[in-house]
Amino acid sequence: MNFKLSEEQLILQTMVKNFTKNEIEPLASKIDREGKVPDDLLKKMAEIGLLGMTIPKEYGGSDFGNLGCVLACEELAYSGTGVWWLLGFNNSIPECIVHFGSQKLKAQYLPKVCEGKVYSSIQFTEEDNGSDARSLKTTARPDGDDYIINGMKRFSTFGAREGYAVLYAKDETGKCTAFVIDKNVKGYTVTKVWDLMGGGGVEAVDVYLEDVRVPKEHILGEKGEGLKILQHWIAAEKIEQCAACVGMAQAALDEAVKYAKSRMSDGKPISTLQGIRWMMADMYAKLQAAKWMTYRTAFLQDQADPEWMTEAAAAKLFVVPTTMEVVEMARRIHGGYGYAKDFKIERLYRAIAGASAIAVSLEINKSIVGGFVCK
Ligand SMILES: Cc1cc2nc3c(=O)[nH]c(=O)nc-3n(C[C@H](O)[C@H](O)[C@H](O)COP(=O)(O)OP(=O)(O)OC[C@H]3O[C@@H](n4cnc5c(N)ncnc54)[C@H](O)[C@@H]3O)c2cc1C
Repeated sequence: MNFKLSEEQLILQTMVKNFTKNEIEPLASKIDREGKVPDDLLKKMAEIGLLGMTIPKEYGGSDFGNLGCVLACEELAYSGTGVWWLLGFNNSIPECIVHFGSQKLKAQYLPKVCEGKVYSSIQFTEEDNGSDARSLKTTARPDGDDYIINGMKRFSTFGAREGYAVLYAKDETGKCTAFVIDKNVKGYTVTKVWDLMGGGGVEAVDVYLEDVRVPKEHILGEKGEGLKILQHWIAAEKIEQCAACVGMAQAALDEAVKYAKSRMSDGKPISTLQGIRWMMADMYAKLQAAKWMTYRTAFLQDQADPEWMTEAAAAKLFVVPTTMEVVEMARRIHGGYGYAKDFKIERLYRAIAGASAIAVSLEINKSIVGGFVCK
């Protein structure tokens, strides 16, 4: 067993740490307030090789793997913004094209992802269904060499940005099929931008699809195997999300230590009080467990371990509530200031709150893991 990150992974970690410090932190309040990532950020990420980490070199990727991607998500999320989604989505969604796509789809989309020319989106949630992807109402009807898609998609992250989406619809057999669609296609309209509680920069929108024509060759994987592809992506997204939670919790602990060392009570910094130190100790131990569980799960994904998707559900089940507890403790250490927007901890507290619902809720993950344990 080796718990050491490789030399390459350590270099990557330091590079993204610096990128977050120099490029994201100065803009973090603005990104949080406006709920929008800066327009040039995707290109900047591409320039330092943060896109296409899960894409083979022949398509312009760095082939760094999922563990590399997780390390980068963690560092970006340290800012308490939703910028890590930009990296996460532009790695985990194209990874589905690598995994399930035809040569033609790979050649058409993957190099553009690596160059930061397109924003990758995924569209399965609808007005009437989120967790229950089997109840999709969006339809795909064959018409010659094409499919015609009609319906709506809710909360599509980066759905208004230029690029492509992996969209899930019910085909003529009633099964779920995944399509790769261009977001500038005729009939694709964005109708609502969601004003979210935190994680500024996520850019979730509603999308309407009216007679959107997609070539049959844009089916991702086999016709009717959409749910399998969706489960694959959701599992990868859970691991990225765990990494982001670890990054936010680390930032919260660092903020709490800084605050506790400077805040005085009875003539001494509160960091000297046993009650505060015990909280710090709990936070540290919880963070270590969450971090290593996340890394291990990404490692299993990179190894294509047969249980990596179940392990991703188990990781989410543990990492999300555990890191939320860490952030809550850090907020309490800040006293009343933890409730004020002048302090980073307030942003972290709101940002981490979304993690329990996105990429399927904790309850659904419990059902997945419970089913595995009792099989
Ligand atoms: C910021 C943000 C970004 C998002 N980005 C995207 C995106 O890019 N693309 C996309 O398609 N979607 C996206 N989503 C949607 C997200 O994936 C869904 O919100 C999520 O899947 C949950 O669905 P729901 O909100 O409809 O909740 P519901 O499915 O209605 O669940 C409501 C409650 O019921 C519980 N529940 C439901 N079914 C079961 C069950 N079978 N067993 C036990 N409990 C159950 C849930 O745990 C939850 O507590 C995003 C959401 C947010 C907030």
